[in-house]
Amino acid sequence: MIHIIHIDKKDWDPGVEASKRNYQLAGPVKDKQFHVFRMLTDAELPDMAYKTSRLSPKSLLFPQSEIMFTYRLDPKADSPHILQEVKADSSPCAVIGIRPCDARAIRILKLNFEGPEYPDPYWLNAIERCTFIGLADNAPESTDFSTSCGTGPFDEAGLDALVVDCQDHYLVKVLTEKGGAWMKAAGFTSVASNNAPEVLERMKAAAESKIASKISFDNIRKMSILDLYQAPFWEDAAFGCIQCGACTYACPTCWCFDIQDETYGAKGVRMKNWDSCMAPLFTLHASGHNPRSTALGRTRQRFMHKLKYFLDKYDQGIMCVGCGRCIVQCPANIDIRKICDRMNQYEAGKGECRCQ
Ligand code: SF4
Ligand code: SF4
Repeated sequence: MIHIIHIDKKDWDPGVEASKRNYQLAGPVKDKQFHVFRMLTDAELPDMAYKTSRLSPKSLLFPQSEIMFTYRLDPKADSPHILQEVKADSSPCAVIGIRPCDARAIRILKLNFEGPEYPDPYWLNAIERCTFIGLADNAPESTDFSTSCGTGPFDEAGLDALVVDCQDHYLVKVLTEKGGAWMKAAGFTSVASNNAPEVLERMKAAAESKIASKISFDNIRKMSILDLYQAPFWEDAAFGCIQCGACTYACPTCWCFDIQDETYGAKGVRMKNWDSCMAPLFTLHASGHNPRSTALGRTRQRFMHKLKYFLDKYDQGIMCVGCGRCIVQCPANIDIRKICDRMNQYEAGKGECRCQ
C-alpha cells in the first residue's frame, strides 16, 4: 500500500487545483504577517512555503465556535422550544500541508473526542470527511522540541500522505487509501525512483538533527501527583502570567470547550466554543465558589494536565507535541520547556510549599 510518488513542482498547483473537483481544500495561507490554517476559497491554493500557522489546524475538526442546534421561542413558529439539529457538511475535504506534529496532536485530541463514553458526533463527522496530506519540516524552528514528545518533523502518524520538499520536486509517501485517492484526484501518479526511500530517510535524519531543544519527563512519570501539586515552584511559574489564554488557544492539543445558548429575540443557537483553563470563569460554580480562583491554581492546572495528569491517565506520553506555539506567543515569556524541567527535576520535601 505504502508507495512514493514524484511530483515536479511545476505540476503541484495544477494538480491541487484539479483535486477541487472532488474535494474541498483546507491549508495554510498568509493573512497579513502570519499564516493561518483554514478552509480555502475557490481562488486559493495552500502556501507550501509556510513555516507554521499561528493557530493550529485543530479548528478544522474542533472549530473555535460551532453551532450545534437552532431554536425558536415564538409560540407561533414551527416546533417552538424544540432544538433543531444543524446539518453537518460531510463532503470530502483534503487538509493539505498540515505539519506532522499537528497531525500527531489530532491523535491526542481523539482520546477526548472519540472516547467510548462520550464520542463527539461533530468531531467524528469532521474527521471522517478529512484526508490529511502532511508537509514534512526540513528546517524546524528553534522552539521546536517535537522529537522529545514522541513525534518529529517527518512523523507519519495520523497522516494519509507525507509530502517532502526536495527543492525542485516533491516526494510524497502515500500512507493510506485515502491518501492514494487524493493523489489520484490530483493526477499525481508518477512513481518515484528506487532510491527515494533512502533519500527520505536521509532528509528525515537531517531535519531531526536540527532540533536542539529537548525536554525530559521520565521523573515526572514516577512522582506522585500530590508532591508535584504541592511543589513550591508554582508560585514562581505563575508570577508573570497575565492569564490571557493565548497559550491554550494556540495549542493543537488543548481540547476544552463550553456549550452556551445565545438567544436573539425569539430565536437562538446552542454553540460549542473553545474554552481555556487559564480563564477564572472556566471553573466558576453557580454557587459563586471557584476551586481555581487564583492565577497560581490555573497555571498549575495547565501544566499539570499536560505534563502529569494526561501522562498518568493515558500512558501515551505527554499532552504536548512540542510545536512551540505557546512559547512564541506567550506575552510573558513563559516557556513550557522550563516548567517541564522544573517539574522533572523536583525533589519532594525540599523547600516550603507556598501553594494556594
Ligand atoms: S508546545 Fe505548547 S502549544 Fe505546542 S503542543 Fe506543546 S503545549 Fe501545546
Ligand atoms: S500565554 Fe503566557 S501569559 Fe497568557 S495565559 Fe498562557 S502562560 Fe499566561
